[in-house]
Amino acid sequence: MSAVLTEARHQLAAWIAVSRRFVIFTGAGISTESGIPDFRGPDGVWTKVNPNQFDYQAYLSDPALRRQRWESYRQGGMGADAKPNAAHLAVAELVQLGLADCVITQNVDGLHARSGVPDDRLFELHGSSRFAKCLTCWTRFPRELTLTWQPDPAAGVPLCPDCGGMMKSGGVSFGEPMPQYETAEAIRRSRAADLFLVIGSSLVVYPAAAMPAYAVEQGAKLAILNISETPHDRIADLLIDTRAAEFLPGVVETVKRMRGQA
Ligand code: ZN
Repeated sequence: MSAVLTEARHQLAAWIAVSRRFVIFTGAGISTESGIPDFRGPDGVWTKVNPNQFDYQAYLSDPALRRQRWESYRQGGMGADAKPNAAHLAVAELVQLGLADCVITQNVDGLHARSGVPDDRLFELHGSSRFAKCLTCWTRFPRELTLTWQPDPAAGVPLCPDCGGMMKSGGVSFGEPMPQYETAEAIRRSRAADLFLVIGSSLVVYPAAAMPAYAVEQGAKLAILNISETPHDRIADLLIDTRAAEFLPGVVETVKRMRGQA
């Protein structure tokens, strides 16, 4: 590891060790090493898949699209077989040790939950494909539970077993409202942070991308761990240009030694 990265590891670990409200924010870059493709890169999903397939209004109005999206969801869509990587595990350990307040994520892959971040410490701003939801009563059902449910012939998707409404993957589509509770809680916790770490996000999708600015406005230190530039780099206190799965496990070990918890 280069001297620059060693220095960055020491600095970030020292901040985490004394932080009282450490908030972690993640984007697609944390999951690429779990085999989930990035969306916006040069080989990203949007260079191969028509984003209109993920348009909320189209989903509401087109039974054929709903049928196609549900079948894709049932088969796993993107990442049902993916496993958390070393970066997810490092993040989960920081939460479990009480060193991080929460994880706010743009990802719908569910890998933070599967790596052991408790539900009450995890705010999935764009929903999660580990759940399906009813678009009428908003009840959420674990994906596994829905796999054998048969689509209604007219709706193209299964109907909610509670109210008969249309079902949809828990991931938020384009033009679909953001989950209210998660969004409000992410803003509140970002504003309360004294240390804010961005992992693997290019910080271009709003309102998610506003979270680091909320933290900095209230005096938090900002560290950005990403392999490309972001529009927030100029307000960051520390920029770390490397892969999260190679960098974060060492940070956790360093923090534990600094706190006598190794
Ligand atoms: Zn319902």
